[in-house]
Amino acid sequence: MHLICHALLDVLYPPLCQGCGLRVRAGDFLCPACLAELLPLPLTRAQSSAHIASLACACDATMMLVGWEYENGSVIERCIHTMKYRQLHRAGEWLGRLLGERLIGTCLLEGDPLLLPVPLHPLKRIERGYNQAEHLCRGLAAECGLEWESRLLLRQRYTSSQSASRLDRDERQANVRDAFMADQARAVELGARPLLLVDDLVTTGATIGACSDVLISSGFTDVRILAVARPPRH
Ligand SMILES: [Zn+2]
Repeated sequence: MHLICHALLDVLYPPLCQGCGLRVRAGDFLCPACLAELLPLPLTRAQSSAHIASLACACDATMMLVGWEYENGSVIERCIHTMKYRQLHRAGEWLGRLLGERLIGTCLLEGDPLLLPVPLHPLKRIERGYNQAEHLCRGLAAECGLEWESRLLLRQRYTSSQSASRLDRDERQANVRDAFMADQARAVELGARPLLLVDDLVTTGATIGACSDVLISSGFTDVRILAVARPPRH
């Protein structure tokens, strides 16, 4: 029955490349030509230091890696848009797997960190129907053999959408300040585990910086950051 449903869905909604619109294999979101257009960023310790140093806010994260360079109109922009706004949340899991394949064996995964999706406010989650960062985490967890969880870090304030509104750097920081909190009981249960915060697009780093501050204040000493994409100039 499951297979019949999938076959029927493929006929009604054929899987199309999110880059160019060509038909792709079921379960894929990019054709080989568009995959080759992605601009992978290095996944090294040196690159990690460069990412942290270029965040707009001081951030005590121990490592930060980013999958691909983000340009307006690029293939990765279309993938992120698909995952966030077109209700194709399976695209998030697929993107998580694609990134996970490249992360195996890198410094970021040393000590098997616990994956933490950057949370959405519960109201925004209802509006969208899902949190795209959770879908990224599902793909990463499956590919890299890691666990993920969504009970530790919570969003307590509804903030306006940063990608939709054109806030400047200071406004973005003010927009996310105090937006997050950690569940203290859960923090105690998790002890000193390394954590890996996962977000789709990082520009100034205000959001992930606020998240890592909250986690470090809750006693975690090794908080790492992973983003799918980042623009070269921020
Ligand atoms: Zn394509």
